[in-house]
Amino acid sequence: MNFADSYRQSITDPQTYWANEAKLIDWHAPFSTVLDDSNPPFTKWFVGGKTNLCHNAVDRWVATQGDQPALIAVSSETEDGQLHEKIYTFAELQAEIERTAAIMLSLGVAKGDRVLIYMPMIAEAIFAMLACARIGAIHSVVFGGFASNSLATRIDDAKPALIVSADAGSRNGKAIAYKPLLDEAIKLARHKPAHVLLVDRRLVPMTMIAGRDADYAALRRQYIDAQVPITWLDSNDTSYILYTSGTTGKPKGVQRDVGGYAVALASSMKHIFCGKPGETYFATSDIGWVVGHSYIVYGPLIAGMATVMYEGLPIRPDAGVWWSIVEKYKVTRMFSAPTAVRVLKKQPPEYMKKHDTSSLKALYLAGEPLDETTSQWIASALGVPIIDNYWQTETGWPILSIAKGIEDKPTRLGSPGVPMAGYKVKILNESTGAVCGANEKGVVVLEGPLPPGCMQTIYGDDDRFVKTYWSNFSNEQVYSTFDWGIRDADGYYFILGRTDDVINVAGHRLGTREIEESISSHPNVSEVAVVGIEDKMKGQVAVAFVIPKNADAAATPESRRALEAEVMAIVDKQLGAVARPSRVHFVTLLPKTRSGKLLRRSIQAICEGRDPGDLTTIEDPMSLEQIRAALAG
Ligand code: ATP
Ligand code: MG
Repeated sequence: MNFADSYRQSITDPQTYWANEAKLIDWHAPFSTVLDDSNPPFTKWFVGGKTNLCHNAVDRWVATQGDQPALIAVSSETEDGQLHEKIYTFAELQAEIERTAAIMLSLGVAKGDRVLIYMPMIAEAIFAMLACARIGAIHSVVFGGFASNSLATRIDDAKPALIVSADAGSRNGKAIAYKPLLDEAIKLARHKPAHVLLVDRRLVPMTMIAGRDADYAALRRQYIDAQVPITWLDSNDTSYILYTSGTTGKPKGVQRDVGGYAVALASSMKHIFCGKPGETYFATSDIGWVVGHSYIVYGPLIAGMATVMYEGLPIRPDAGVWWSIVEKYKVTRMFSAPTAVRVLKKQPPEYMKKHDTSSLKALYLAGEPLDETTSQWIASALGVPIIDNYWQTETGWPILSIAKGIEDKPTRLGSPGVPMAGYKVKILNESTGAVCGANEKGVVVLEGPLPPGCMQTIYGDDDRFVKTYWSNFSNEQVYSTFDWGIRDADGYYFILGRTDDVINVAGHRLGTREIEESISSHPNVSEVAVVGIEDKMKGQVAVAFVIPKNADAAATPESRRALEAEVMAIVDKQLGAVARPSRVHFVTLLPKTRSGKLLRRSIQAICEGRDPGDLTTIEDPMSLEQIRAALAG
């Protein structure tokens, strides 16, 4: 079947399409209804079916490939920065999960209870996630390193019975104590978890609180031979809660089901990521983000692949570390983010050439717009197709991509591709709600019902779910992505940034993303952030912060002025004078979240002399100092 036919069936006959896809996973009891959309937007998939994510990710493969690698935990967060690895076969992974599940049960965790996981990128974090899945507890992984306040908010929202954590994470070889942050968060939170389970990596000393804190290693020994049967769950039970990264405001607890998610992941692994049992998958994300949930933990394992979990920086011990992992474990499919590729692009190219990456068949990138230069650079460096994919925490798996597993449809530079199965993507005019024509800019929306795997609701707040996502256009049941986009005449989509990243210059509405794209086309621009700041005359003006490729080009006031003028001239030429930034500042760092998203809100706040807001996910606080210094200078 070609892609067009397959996609068409997913839209016109979702029952048949998804019933077929559902065969990719094991069901303990068959479903009676594929799709129940009687109470939109609360869609139910595979009603009546019973299954389990842990069974499909692990137990299912133990019989046929129990002695093959399932989890390859690699860390460069060692004293000397040399790689340390720990490999778990499917059988070993199952045993570890059963031990962790037994510990959770002994601490009173029951089906439906929330377990908050605040962990570094160590294997025990994955044991904990899958142990929850096994016993029907609802995990909520909170990115390790979040500050106490943010953690406390999430504790109060999820009300966990148990928190699983560790003494410390590590970054660039330096321990970052987690336990004091966690203790402080629990103090701040109204909700108090009954138990805290702690993995002691012996990176920093820990003070245990008697009666509340339990030592993982001791309990693991106690439950070393534990056997914990799978708890079969209803397809529409909740598997997990994951808070959105909060780039645009108060985080929302995205709640996901069991059966729909399992099917969506199995289907995407087959058609988009083309994963085969026995092969190795490597996603460079963090388990605290949705990519980590879907494509470090559940997706590859559900597809019977070994998955690499990497703790460390992409440039330690050197900029070849990822490629050494690809070489050593014969990675076939790799998933990363444009921001990480841009980091590597600044490094000498020999690191890439030092390793044999011939096992790699494709590199998938997501999380932010993939600019053409970055895409072309990595494509020629690796010699494999680069597959952009566009999605959100809310959807759990790609909305737009190219399903190479169905048809070798060409990718198009700058476009994440076309709608994936079941996604009815439309571009609507922001004010009239009318469907936009080809190449006409509008809001990217998804017409309900959403395909399997997408969020069920906002945890504990159905009203907010409806109000936030489903009430932006009065005429239809549409879910707003809050992203701008266009569709070209051939049906390829382009994402133009977030709807709240719009600035209004003297009545002209301009996307900061478009201005950034234009500035990026200057040969000496490595990265750029554009924000709109208040201006008495024009309402708002654009201000650009640029990381030059060659720092010498911005070393003196004269050279900075010259480069600024060149950047302005490019914008004038490509977008018109109205979009020209009023100032172009030069920095060596931009404030980003640890998942690589530009913190435009914070930059804007600093420019306007306001408080930059919640910065707990910021990658490097020095970047804000640079913004301040640039403005002052
Ligand atoms: P919050 O919703 O809390 O503000 P967030 O939107 O940053 O956080 P995610 O769900 O991780 O959190 O990010 C999804 C967003 O990332 C998309 O809505 C889109 O703006 C952007 N994005 C993801 N993939 C791509 C891509 N391939 N191309 C362009 N933009 C992308
Ligand atoms: Mg979002």
